[in-house]
Amino acid sequence: MTTCIQDVYAARYGVDFRPIDFCDLTAVAAACEDGVSAFFVETPTNPMMKVSDIQALADIAHEHNALLIVDNTFLTCYYQRPLELGADLVVYSGTKYLCGHNDVVCGFVVIRDETLLERVFMDYLSEGDALGPFEAWLMLRSLKTMPLRLDAQQERALSIASFLKNHPHVCQVHYVGDPDHPHYDLSCRQSSGFGAMISFTTDTRERAEQVLERVRVITFAESLGGVESLITYPMVQTHGSVPHEIREKLGISETLLRLSVGVENLDDLIADLKQALA
Ligand SMILES: *Cc1c(COP(=O)(O)O)cnc(C)c1O
Repeated sequence: MTTCIQDVYAARYGVDFRPIDFCDLTAVAAACEDGVSAFFVETPTNPMMKVSDIQALADIAHEHNALLIVDNTFLTCYYQRPLELGADLVVYSGTKYLCGHNDVVCGFVVIRDETLLERVFMDYLSEGDALGPFEAWLMLRSLKTMPLRLDAQQERALSIASFLKNHPHVCQVHYVGDPDHPHYDLSCRQSSGFGAMISFTTDTRERAEQVLERVRVITFAESLGGVESLITYPMVQTHGSVPHEIREKLGISETLLRLSVGVENLDDLIADLKQALA
C-alpha cells in the first residue's frame, strides 16, 4: 500500500490540509469558509503546468487573514516575483534552477513580514539544516549565470514544445509558453518568462517507456532545472506516493512524461527526442 507523504506530515505536525484547485477561484474562496491559515500554491504546477493567479489568490487569502505561500521553483525570481504580486512567503527548491547544475540539494524561503521572518528564522536555527560551505559556494557561483541559463533553457523549450506538438506519437503538450496553453494570457501577465519545464503524453504506455529507454542526450532521471536535460516518469517517480485516484484526476497518467530542458545543442535535443519517439 502506498502512503501519502502529506498525510504522514500532516499528522506529525498537527496540520490539517486539503488539496484544492487553485485555478478555480470560486472553490478557493469557498474553502476559506472553513477557516484557513495559509494557502500553499505551486505555479506553474508540477507536472501539469497549470498556472494560477497569484494576485487574486493573495487577495482572497488576505481577506480571510490567511497567508499565501508560493512555491516559485519552476520560474524562479528571474521570471516571476510572487512577493510583488502579494504573496507572503516564497519557497524554492534551490536544488533546481537556482543551483542549476544538478549538484547541490538546498532550499530557500523568502519572507515579507519581519515578525514572521523572526519566527521562521528561530525554527531554522533550532531545527533547520545548514548548507555546507562548499555547497554554499557552488550556489553563489551558480546564481551568477542563472539568467543566462534560464534564457537559454527557455529558448530551447519553446522549440521543443512546438516540435512535440507536431509529432504524430505525442498527444498533448503542456508548456506555459505555448500560446494554446489555457493559461497563456495569465502567464504573460504575471511572469516575464515561461521557463523550461514541459510535460507531454504519448499515444501509448509502451511509447512512454520506450522514450525513457531510448534517450541518449537527455537523461532519464529525477530532478529538474539543471543545464543537463532530464526526463522523468511522474506516475512512478515524483508522484509515485500520490494515491492513484488523485493522480488520475490530475492527469498524471501512464503516458505522461516530464521534460526539464537543459542547455545542450537544440538540434541534438530534437534529434534525440525524434529517435526516442519513433
Ligand atoms: C524538487 C522540488 C521541491 C523539493 O525540493 P528539494 O530540493 O528536492 O528538497 C519542491 N517544489 C518543487 C516545485 C520542486 O520541483
